[in-house]
Amino acid sequence: MIQPIYWSLISLNHRGQQSYGLLVHHDGFKGVKGLGPLPESLPRGARRFIGDRGIGHVRYVTSGGYMRRQMLVDAQPCVVEHSGRRLAIAYNGNVANSVEFRRSLERRGIELHCTSDAELIAYEILLSLGEGLARAALRLASRVDGAYSLVGLMDDGTLFALRDPIGLKPLFYGSSSTLTMIASETVALDINSLDSSPVAPGELLVVSNGGVIRRRIAGSGQGSICAFEYAYFARPDSRLDGWRYVYEVRRELGRRLARRHPEVARRVDIVVPVPETAVDAAYGFHEETGKPMEPVIVRHRFVRHRAFMASPTSRAEILSKKYNIVTRRASGRRIALMDDSIVRGDTLKIIISMLRKAGSKEVHVFSTFPEIVSPCFYGVDMATYSELIGFNRSEKEVARILGADTVNYQTVEDFLDAVGNDVCMACVTGRYPTPYASKLARRALECTSSPRGRIAEVME
Ligand code: SF4
Repeated sequence: MIQPIYWSLISLNHRGQQSYGLLVHHDGFKGVKGLGPLPESLPRGARRFIGDRGIGHVRYVTSGGYMRRQMLVDAQPCVVEHSGRRLAIAYNGNVANSVEFRRSLERRGIELHCTSDAELIAYEILLSLGEGLARAALRLASRVDGAYSLVGLMDDGTLFALRDPIGLKPLFYGSSSTLTMIASETVALDINSLDSSPVAPGELLVVSNGGVIRRRIAGSGQGSICAFEYAYFARPDSRLDGWRYVYEVRRELGRRLARRHPEVARRVDIVVPVPETAVDAAYGFHEETGKPMEPVIVRHRFVRHRAFMASPTSRAEILSKKYNIVTRRASGRRIALMDDSIVRGDTLKIIISMLRKAGSKEVHVFSTFPEIVSPCFYGVDMATYSELIGFNRSEKEVARILGADTVNYQTVEDFLDAVGNDVCMACVTGRYPTPYASKLARRALECTSSPRGRIAEVME
């Protein structure tokens, strides 16, 4: 059983490399956890795992502590215990109302050890399990303002999956005569030769020896998945709506950028993707304009991205070590630099300065994602207004800060047309699909002059 879970996690490692964990059910829970990306072979502690069901997780930190010891405590699957019952969950998402949630659990006598939201979610489910899993899921839906896609394993061996009523995070299900799996992306099922179908927003799946029971718990079943999945998170060979590949959407986003900004597109000599998430969009731009696509920027494959943990100076240094410029290709050219999105602009700033040093005549930035002007409270690492380069700045100002000649964003209209699916775009439009996140956004706006970390903490 452990091998298919391991392969699925390997295929999902792009979603998080800060920690990993695997856990099986056999005569109780047995698990291993570690920091960094999943090892290249099954972690030693897991090789002797037996049991016919388990869960696993790879983590990208958007909330909680960044110290090594705390990150290990926060690594998932997260196991909680209460009144003689145990529950393990692997969770993707973020609780916007985490401060009030945390206080309410503490008032109920729960001692919390993690700084991540997974523990809050796990306790909320466990404390309501006496009323049955469906009631616990309904209660969770009514209490959490935020995003969650999760798999859970109970101490009696019951395996289940749950997706929030808005469906902000992806979740897929696949089954054969010998294997049933639930995972964040279709690639994690592909690697185990399983066909996949989406878990609907607000749906609960319970897996038992008799098969799978699917039940809609909350919401209409029509959701708004995070738009950032299309631009950045998901692998290009994933199918977020169950049928169309992400690379097809990205290619269309590149074509639309070329059509939307024809003068700049005509002016450039070559299109250059920032590796690797912008490659398909750059190809679409090339198809639309006929301009050659050239791999001017090469990523040093084994430089691990830990820049988020460093001071601003060393962060810049780490980022500069991630990329190499093929000077001969860059020199004397007018470049259309394609990136998936522009959040803080740190990486782009460094790449553009490297291109200038290599002798590029002009650098025009194209962003497949529209201008990000509001924070995210649903599990993407941009929680304050002031960290966003696009907040309160014109395209010209952003270009000046980046050192680019122009910055050319995707329009919201083109993005939605290309995606063809209902999506959350709150970080672009400022319209949040949940009430507490809207409240946080208003409060965060008042705090832009003195940001103090995660806005949920500022709310205290
Ligand atoms: S606010 Fe932006 S990043 Fe956050 S879930 Fe919505 S689209 Fe995704």
